Amino acid sequence: MSTENREACSPPSGRAAMEKELPKQFQDYRNVWVFIELEHGQVHPVSIELLGEGRKLADKLGVHLAGVVIGPPGGQGTANAIADAFAYGADLSYLVESPLLAHYRNEPFTKALTDLVLANKPEILLLGATTLGRDLAGSVATTLKTGLTADCTELNVDSDGSLAATRPTFGGSLLCTIYTLKCRPQMATVRPSVMAMPQRVNNPTGSIIRHELKMREEEIATKVLAFFSDGDSNTANLAYADVVVAGGLGLGAVQNLQLLKDLARTIGGDFGCSRPLVQKGWMPVDRQIGQTGNTIRPKLYIAAGISGAVQHRVGVEGADLIVAINTDPNAPIFDFAHLGVVADAISFLPALTEVFTKRLERRNFEKFAQ
Ligand SMILES: Cc1cc2nc3c(=O)[nH]c(=O)nc-3n(C[C@H](O)[C@H](O)[C@H](O)COP(=O)(O)OP(=O)(O)OC[C@H]3O[C@@H](n4cnc5c(N)ncnc54)[C@H](O)[C@@H]3O)c2cc1C
Repeated sequence: MSTENREACSPPSGRAAMEKELPKQFQDYRNVWVFIELEHGQVHPVSIELLGEGRKLADKLGVHLAGVVIGPPGGQGTANAIADAFAYGADLSYLVESPLLAHYRNEPFTKALTDLVLANKPEILLLGATTLGRDLAGSVATTLKTGLTADCTELNVDSDGSLAATRPTFGGSLLCTIYTLKCRPQMATVRPSVMAMPQRVNNPTGSIIRHELKMREEEIATKVLAFFSDGDSNTANLAYADVVVAGGLGLGAVQNLQLLKDLARTIGGDFGCSRPLVQKGWMPVDRQIGQTGNTIRPKLYIAAGISGAVQHRVGVEGADLIVAINTDPNAPIFDFAHLGVVADAISFLPALTEVFTKRLERRNFEKFAQ
């Protein structure tokens, strides 16, 4: 945000003193928009989660919810994105199609989205806090000179209709609610899995509004020459895993991570860790769970040798069942775990793996014998 605009957007000190003098040029901004992100032609689940939140905000404000789809012409991805937008609550969709939008590039996507905003004036614009979403949200907000609240954990509408965007602050020990008082749209990003998946709507319908991208290839500095996979078939997708087994400093040594991996593989789950293990270089950052890592919502979360610091807790609270293994009966993780095991993880993890292995073998044998 520019200095000039930061001053314009900053609230005066004290909530009571926050006069909502929305400048005239923004007073006709209406409706809630969700940017529908396509990842290799597939709709990113965070966009669906945001449609659920966007629907709630739009209903509170009594306005429309729109999905914004940007991509190449006639692509299956854009068609699926529009279908999903309606299926998860959008009343209308904006569609910008151009061969220049075949792959994500900051300049044409920023141009497409900012032009759409200037032409149609939404009051709220939500994006997923993915690599793409963070890049796009930042440049759209700076181009439009409006406020952007990143990594929100709660979105609400204030009594006067302003977006109340809540996010952790001071290392996760406090939550702050941020308002964009004098600029529009009010922009926010939310990380994958932070919000719940909404229900599909029965017989969804809606109108599609097309918008032309007014840009030429010569105006774009970035060229996509080829895509190379990072070659790591072990890349984590913890945010959407049903079962996650994670370890912390209590595991004591890097070789003990194998105990986590063995259990995770046996029960069909993925594995992760607390932040210090990433800082030690024991695990890559995409396996970190918590405030500055992944937020997870698995059906089962097993935490071994993790104390349960608040920064870790905020990333796992959405799990259906939390099982904690810790030698210290007073460890904070026992305050929010559903099941607690006071034990040495180094011996308990392999014992658990063995029990599950035997159970699976018995089940397979019974199936075979039938
Ligand atoms: C700005 C900021 C952001 C942060 N973001 C994150 C984040 O995203 N994710 C995150 O995890 N942390 C994050 N942290 C760090 C966080 O504050 C904690 O320091 C961290 O979560 C602690 O990791 P831990 O539980 O593995 O280690 P510790 O707190 O040292 O806990 C180790 C636990 O293991 C237990 N233990 C020891 N031996 C055994 C054994 N043999 N068997 C079983 N249990 C044993 C101990 O009783 C203890 O409870 C952040 C901190 C800051 C300041």
